[in-house]
Amino acid sequence: MGMFDWYEPEAAHACPECDAELSGWQGTSGPCALLVYRQGRRYPVDQRVDPEARLLALRQAAFDLPAAFQIHTFCANGHPAALQCGCDDHRWVSCVPSALR
Ligand SMILES: [Zn+2]
Repeated sequence: MGMFDWYEPEAAHACPECDAELSGWQGTSGPCALLVYRQGRRYPVDQRVDPEARLLALRQAAFDLPAAFQIHTFCANGHPAALQCGCDDHRWVSCVPSALR
């Protein structure tokens, strides 16, 4: 399995240094199985692995995100960026720009 999961915030976020649009958010607070978490959804919406490698028959409770966590990415110009995220009853509901931890 991978070393992180993918995260898709609801809103677009721009690089704090150059204003380039940011994508490819990654975080290590979840199961770190290349799952795709989408803001506002209780459980992962996808898993970016070969179909043969997909996690099967795992209980959904195994996919819970913590109440607070950070995700990070790099803009097209190589600047690091981070979002501080929060969950309400394990559903990812908020994210705000944050200093890299
Ligand atoms: Zn940048």
